[in-house]
Amino acid sequence: MNDNQPAAAPSSARLSAARVRLRRERDHAGVVLPVPVVCGQCGGTPRKPEDSIVATCPVCYEAYEISLAGPRRIATGRGALHGARPRNSERPFWVFAASITFTYNMNSGLGALLRDRSEEWIRRPGLRLFIPAYRGLPEHLLEQARAMSIAQPEFTIEPAAMIPGAVLTEQEARALADILVGDAEIRRPGVMQLLGYALALDQPRLLLLPV
Ligand SMILES: [Zn+2]
Repeated sequence: MNDNQPAAAPSSARLSAARVRLRRERDHAGVVLPVPVVCGQCGGTPRKPEDSIVATCPVCYEAYEISLAGPRRIATGRGALHGARPRNSERPFWVFAASITFTYNMNSGLGALLRDRSEEWIRRPGLRLFIPAYRGLPEHLLEQARAMSIAQPEFTIEPAAMIPGAVLTEQEARALADILVGDAEIRRPGVMQLLGYALALDQPRLLLLPV
């Protein structure tokens, strides 16, 4: 390991056993998962709460998503919401910088009125999507994602030594983000006929946020 290197940006590359020593650990469902024994950054011992798919080094805060495919470095943290009163509980959310492009039918409804402007595409830049990573009913998770993503809260990121309660992987969060965006448009009938949308998501951060 490169013990004295400065922290590098997490990559999405999976870490092989050759690079990171692994041990096998059974999760709550009895599935045996490979968990890193030594932090690839500083040599510390990553810790994983039993109810979480995230192991974090308590020394340098290097964090790993744990799955059957092997551990993968991820960016984590604790989000301090601006202007919000301190809350008692925190829950993990995948926070994506998202770019959404909607395509509307410009020959119907409002689209026909806007046609003079030649706006074939309507973009929504600078958007963040907040996808709950904790266990819950799908309807509740989607409702929470919708409320947070509409609110667009500002926050400062601090290091987090542990991420408890995270059960949703980044891949699963991306699927939920897609459902959220598609569902949001279906809920606005009659404004313009939606033909489709393209959703681009950046590398997310897994953040503990007050709820
Ligand atoms: Zn470390």
